[in-house]
Amino acid sequence: MAATAESVLKPDFKSQRKHFIFTDEHEQLRESIRSFATKELAPHAEEWEETTFPDSVFRRMGELGFLGLDKPEQYGGQGGDYYSALVLAEEIGAANSGGLAMGLAVQTDMAMPPILKFGTEEQKREWAEPAIKGEKILCLGITEPDAGSDVSGIKTRAVRDGEDWVINGSKTYITNGHRADVIVLVTKTDPDAGYDGFTLFLVPMDSPGVIREKRLKKLGMHASDTALLAFQDVRVPDTAVLGAVGKGFYHIMWELQGERLIGAAGCVSGAQRCFEKTLQYANERKAFGREIGKFQVIRHKFAEMATKIESARQMVYVTAWRFNNGEYPVREISMAKLHAARVACEVADECIQIHGGAGYMVEYGVERVWRDMRLNRIGAGTDEIMLDVIGRSYGL
Ligand SMILES: Cc1cc2nc3c(=O)[nH]c(=O)nc-3n(C[C@H](O)[C@H](O)[C@H](O)COP(=O)(O)OP(=O)(O)OC[C@H]3O[C@@H](n4cnc5c(N)ncnc54)[C@H](O)[C@@H]3O)c2cc1C
Repeated sequence: MAATAESVLKPDFKSQRKHFIFTDEHEQLRESIRSFATKELAPHAEEWEETTFPDSVFRRMGELGFLGLDKPEQYGGQGGDYYSALVLAEEIGAANSGGLAMGLAVQTDMAMPPILKFGTEEQKREWAEPAIKGEKILCLGITEPDAGSDVSGIKTRAVRDGEDWVINGSKTYITNGHRADVIVLVTKTDPDAGYDGFTLFLVPMDSPGVIREKRLKKLGMHASDTALLAFQDVRVPDTAVLGAVGKGFYHIMWELQGERLIGAAGCVSGAQRCFEKTLQYANERKAFGREIGKFQVIRHKFAEMATKIESARQMVYVTAWRFNNGEYPVREISMAKLHAARVACEVADECIQIHGGAGYMVEYGVERVWRDMRLNRIGAGTDEIMLDVIGRSYGL
């Protein structure tokens, strides 16, 4: 039987249909964040590698409503769903600055969620509301010089003293630590109580005894500031306790799930942007009389990268859909974080290879993606810890 016009199906590689988790409103939001990041942030990306990005970015994004997309309206947020936070994590990539994206994510998706979930009304008014406006900057202190992956090994102590608590200890690698107004601080309040011996505190960074010791130099994420902090006899009132006394470990494990999924979304979008930039290069750069993208070896590199990025994207979206619908899919979040971080690093590395010597040069920006993305296999839980969480979830 002869084929009719209707029965001849041709592949439509240009189709840009949105994923089922996103609505038209999400797509409009996507456009407005992308346009803002492209026009107002990206032109400064190089400069901020040297100076770190200015605090005014928080205020500007607060004015635009971008710091409270999924936060309750009663505290100045937009009251959107979790997907709107994913859209921000994806589109802020248009700023071309991993360090900036990380500093913002600490504000919106690391330090703020525990305040909104476990905080008192007063704490939400004092810290979350101005943070959504970009008028206050937040940071989160889990890691210490002697304990990172092993959160239960932290030594920072908070001891009751009458109506107050007195805190002593040290935190390191703290993003936003030099500029923050307050820290969500993980402490040990009862060393004999195991996982029930931890408590979170909201410690104003101008409290006597809080010392911003060192601005740490690092491989990538140069636009962010990273601090070594000391706490020496820092006295805070009982109202500084965030959540339940003794339940800080569980509170922070909950916080890490949202942070990991947002981080995974950032990895997918970072990998996608690097892929697109490199595709353009491969279509322009010629060797041996043809565009390098026309060599089968290079074409297959793109095919491999695209397949990896797509698999990571689907994991992130489907896991976000479960998270948004009230599930607590720790195994899948760990898988998405592990996979997306690996994919981002592999893609950035392959993009340098496809660029050849240009990939090694600062002006093409690919080496920066490679350096910035590398953090994702370490921060918010290393690959090895993700593998352990996944493995243990099968009862091993
Ligand atoms: C740029 C940057 C920004 C950061 N920002 C923050 C922040 O804002 N707030 C904050 O609190 N922290 C922050 N961190 C800290 C980060 O979360 C930790 O570095 C990370 O959790 C790993 O901890 P660690 O560095 O102590 O490594 P370690 O725990 O010492 O691990 C060293 C190695 O041992 C492996 N390992 C450890 N335990 C196991 C195990 N059980 N099984 C197998 N392997 C294991 C690890 O996977 C890793 O390969 C930041 C880090 C960086 C680099």
